[in-house]
Amino acid sequence: MTDVLGRPIGRLLGEPTARALGKLGLRTVGDVLRHYPRRLQDRGRFTELRDLPVGDHVTVLARVEDVQERPMHARRGVILNATISDGAHRLLLTFFAKHPGGLSRNRRMLQVGTTGLFTGTVTLYRGARQLAHPDFEVLGDLDDEAAAIERHMQPIPIYPATSAVPSWRIANAVTTLLRILTSDDVPDVVPPDVRRAEDLLGSFAALQGIHDPVSEEHWLRARRTLQFEEAFVLQSVLVRRREVARALRTVPRPATGGGILAAFDARLPFPLTAGQRAVGDQIAADLASHTPMQRLLQGEVGSGKTLVALRAMLQVVEAGGQAALLAPTEVLAQQHHRSIAAMLGPLALPGMLGGADAATHVELLTSSLPSRRRATALARAASGQAGLVIGTHALLGEEVQFHDLGLVVVDEQHRFGVEQRDVLRTRGGRTAHSLVMTATPIPRTVAMTVFGDLEVSTLREMPPGRGEVRTFAVPRDNAAWMGRMWQRCAEEVAAGGRVYVVCPRIDAGDTDTTGAAVTQTAAALRDEPALAGVAIGELHGRLAMDAKDRAMDDFASGRTPVLVATTVVEVGVDVADATVMVVLDADRFGLSQLHQLRGRIGRGGRPGVCFAVTGQLAGPAEGRVQAFVTTRDGFELAEKDLELRREGDVLGAAQSGLASSLTTLRVLADRDLIERARAHADALVARDPSFATVPALAAAVAGIEESSAGDFIERA
Ligand code: ADP
Ligand code: MG
Repeated sequence: MTDVLGRPIGRLLGEPTARALGKLGLRTVGDVLRHYPRRLQDRGRFTELRDLPVGDHVTVLARVEDVQERPMHARRGVILNATISDGAHRLLLTFFAKHPGGLSRNRRMLQVGTTGLFTGTVTLYRGARQLAHPDFEVLGDLDDEAAAIERHMQPIPIYPATSAVPSWRIANAVTTLLRILTSDDVPDVVPPDVRRAEDLLGSFAALQGIHDPVSEEHWLRARRTLQFEEAFVLQSVLVRRREVARALRTVPRPATGGGILAAFDARLPFPLTAGQRAVGDQIAADLASHTPMQRLLQGEVGSGKTLVALRAMLQVVEAGGQAALLAPTEVLAQQHHRSIAAMLGPLALPGMLGGADAATHVELLTSSLPSRRRATALARAASGQAGLVIGTHALLGEEVQFHDLGLVVVDEQHRFGVEQRDVLRTRGGRTAHSLVMTATPIPRTVAMTVFGDLEVSTLREMPPGRGEVRTFAVPRDNAAWMGRMWQRCAEEVAAGGRVYVVCPRIDAGDTDTTGAAVTQTAAALRDEPALAGVAIGELHGRLAMDAKDRAMDDFASGRTPVLVATTVVEVGVDVADATVMVVLDADRFGLSQLHQLRGRIGRGGRPGVCFAVTGQLAGPAEGRVQAFVTTRDGFELAEKDLELRREGDVLGAAQSGLASSLTTLRVLADRDLIERARAHADALVARDPSFATVPALAAAVAGIEESSAGDFIERA
């Protein structure tokens, strides 16, 4: 197969055209043919000229009604004015030239009564809309009436163009290229049986149909074919990766009974929820298998995911291995370390007086750890003395070695990229079991596309005895409401509660963001009459590690019952007595962030209250705050969030690798199509795992694997 699609376009289309198309990033035959038209323009219908937005680059079909040429007043030169019409409304076209001869082509082409396509940027001149120096193409002469009528019936594809490259220039290039291609140059990536089942065109026919359709129906079918092909190739990549993962072998870590897990369960002060038990059983079975577990655990904020993860880690320790817990922030890693050590009690004190037989070391590893502690942690991880190692990105460093790593847990996985997740899991050529956790529910198709190879478990129920949390929006400029809010905070403190005050930035001097700052807010609250006598702490990412530790400790113990903080407290932080969450400049936060922040309160039995303080609200911020105040259901909020955001944000830059290359597909809108493509890919991989029967698919899949390996090397 000669690779015609990979050929540069210069020789085929001429350098000037190649240069122009190069501005759109189109360099090869394939690039140009994959630059699909955005919509179809029906030739039989004129574009409505009435509503053209000023400043837009437009392409319109219209009829020339009037042409006038006159000399310019002030300067030497001539002006040609043409009025075009859609039958009801008009638009002015203006052309200038230094010499009358410069406009002769325009004069010749723009005869009254001629129909043409005109393209340019809409500007306002003396209150009327016009196109200055538009590009245009006059439509067929009417010599051959039959051909003219047929051509008239054919819809015109309109390309995403720029002022530098008008739509028909692209169309002409495409027409030229389509003429030199044959179906051999564009082999099918979808096998014939699938194509029949899905009623698709062949790959080459689809390219012809999308660029040069005989009817709208034809165009739509071509588009559906191209979308399906894209989904099918991507799902083939993902299904094959899953198969490769399934073929991997790891050490089974079955619960042996009578070890550290059993001892821990016996210590638990409360029963597991039904959900924790069910998910726990699934995970226990996964861990006992030779196949590495790849499971995503999603569950509402506060649903008790950490406990599920801890029990999984203890099972691995019981079976003789080690487990690592990766957290996105130092504050969260510290908290996990503190609370896991506390829950384990004597089980975390091996060889100590009062320690238990089954005990293991629980080590913390972060980048700001003092060097002595760090050396101890590294040594215990490497020797296997530490059954549990908890840390931040610092865990991913080359110098961190494990004796026998059996399980990697990633908390709040949305903060990590796919490759980061995998670094630990595959350290040293062995594959560990993996559990990733998130409180941000992921739509199924996104999960399938971004994590095509994960099994998903969901914790739906909350542990019993959770307090109710009410949410209020507070206008920042309303002094009476603000005063009442601080008074309410003082009342909660007096009753033994704790108050978070979250600000978007650390210091008023920071220029990258605006809005309330931790340092200034803490100072102001120390002068706030309503909070007289209440100690106020501060916490943010710039503090040294022990200062962070102390700030969380003082807050939890009640020495500083009010904590002014950045979003370092956003994920996972767990202080049972916290009852109030004040979010300053709440309109600056995303919906899932707000939901996470609110998840920090109402964790003990006591009811909580959340205040979202905002300035004047408008636009999407208003929608976010409104949704936040009216619902506390994380799944509902996630859906609302999707409505308010654009697709790219949904996938998240860090983990979208593959998905960001999608051109025709919308992961949410094309859910059905993606699911069908997945089913077909599953079936194909089952009978032909190397795609030997579909060479074009094998090549496409190999190409994607190569380029994503390239991406990874670049990022690593
Ligand atoms: P998240 O799912 O948001 O990570 P956490 O794991 O932080 O939630 O759990 C929130 C709180 O609920 C913790 O204080 C934890 O000790 C407590 N908890 C977990 N499981 C139970 C349970 N079965 N019964 C009572 N409290 C529980
Ligand atoms: Mg958590």
